[in-house]
Amino acid sequence: MRAQPKASHFIAGAWVEDRAGSAFESIFPATGEVVAQLHAATPAVIDQALAAAADAQHEWAARPPVERGRVLRRAADILRVRNHELSVLETLDTGKPLQETLVADAASGADALEYFAGFAATVTGQTIPLGRDMAYTLREALGVCVGIGAWNYPMQIACWKAAPALAFGNAMVFKPSEVTPLSALALAEILQEAGLPDGLFNVVQGMGEVGAQLVTDPRVAKVSLTGSVPTGRKVYASAAQGIKSATMELGGKSPLIIFDDADLDNAVGAAMLANFYSAGQICSNGTRVFVHRSIKTAFLDKLAARAGAIVLGDPLDEATQMGPLVSDGHLSKVLGYIDQGKAEGARLVCGGARVGSTGCYVQPTVFADVTDEMVIAREEIFGPVMTVLDFDDEADVIARANATEYGLAAGVFTRDIMRGHRVVSQLQAGTCWINAYNLTPVEMPFGGVKASGVGRENGHAALEHYTRIKSVYLGLGDVDAPY
Ligand code: NDP
Repeated sequence: MRAQPKASHFIAGAWVEDRAGSAFESIFPATGEVVAQLHAATPAVIDQALAAAADAQHEWAARPPVERGRVLRRAADILRVRNHELSVLETLDTGKPLQETLVADAASGADALEYFAGFAATVTGQTIPLGRDMAYTLREALGVCVGIGAWNYPMQIACWKAAPALAFGNAMVFKPSEVTPLSALALAEILQEAGLPDGLFNVVQGMGEVGAQLVTDPRVAKVSLTGSVPTGRKVYASAAQGIKSATMELGGKSPLIIFDDADLDNAVGAAMLANFYSAGQICSNGTRVFVHRSIKTAFLDKLAARAGAIVLGDPLDEATQMGPLVSDGHLSKVLGYIDQGKAEGARLVCGGARVGSTGCYVQPTVFADVTDEMVIAREEIFGPVMTVLDFDDEADVIARANATEYGLAAGVFTRDIMRGHRVVSQLQAGTCWINAYNLTPVEMPFGGVKASGVGRENGHAALEHYTRIKSVYLGLGDVDAPY
């Protein structure tokens, strides 16, 4: 059960170790076994990574975009060929079941690399007629970008940041979560094998302070964080100090509204995907499930039957549908919220307890009769805990859905096409689904509003966040000077 990388960091195309950095471990959360031992980056390692990125970036940006795209395309192919091995690695690091990692992690990363590979050579500026004179715009790379990742989708997050950054001519220094340090290193090796020149994608390990040092360095032009709102506030403030571009992909407490005309089986399936996939550790999860009062009993009956049948177990067994949570610390946090839900008077429909004493397993849990004021309906739990709230009226449920500091995602289930569009147009969320949930294809921009973030990843929107515009005024006549 070991997946020890050759060293902790990958800088300028080489493995780097500095044992002076504090030691930490990657732990398989299903058993508590140590998968790998690493060291956090020291200031010298951080400096080495940033210097390598700065050195490599200008030559890379000067290459024809189609060449940059070709490298990323090759990397996408390698990710797909190695999907099984990378999925096992991701499962060991995160505890997510292989059934999921085989289809959702490296596969999504490969999609991002392929998408931005094709996008690279399509980027153009504008020509702006000005009468006698004219202007044009150039899309330029930003320079050195820092990516900081959360632990729930480590490979996907690394690819969603690296692919657009590299496609548009930037270099990246990426810091994975200390809880899941391994797959970003695998990505660095794959990009090198695909032909990425040294120094363009560097991985440094460590806790928050390593991320904080990266963000404040004057060589850095842009910061892209995937993480919690409290971390986002710090990183965004720090980026602002340096007047750096920033993308913040943060947490949520998203609403999923199920109207009385919805296809009930589909709505139940979507609510389960929106709360139990990856053991509920997904930022965009629809954790406040508003169900029209007239279908509440039927909804809860179907939900309890299907939730009770979820196969929990060894995440390396492909039959397993739900694995453990990522760590002991996170397990305690999620169990604390479940206790709070019980204490607040929410009705436990199913689950509600830890499973076994080894591994960080929690039963898929559903609370009904939840009210808007309860803590479990307001705070991001990031575990397999669904809260079901009742509603009667469309306008009222929209107001309640929006009554949160978050605004990452939202979903609506209805057979009434007009109502579907009418409701999403009023929901304060960066991504909305009608009769679907949590599908995030790379073609579609993804990101939050309100406290859930700024900027967008994926789709054409990513161009705005990894390039800047240079305007060029072209004088085509004599200079009209008044003196
Ligand atoms: P955290 O905010 O705790 O950490 C995110 C990353 O930031 C980690 O790599 C962390 O390092 C690093 N970090 C912590 N403090 C600082 C700092 N002061 N400066 C720079 N970097 C810092 O989030 P989690 O890892 O616990 O991930 C879960 C959260 O991420 C949830 O809130 C979830 O909603 C959100 N998320 C958002 C997504 C989105 O796209 N909107 C997608 C996935 C998750 P370390 O942890 O190693 O100390």
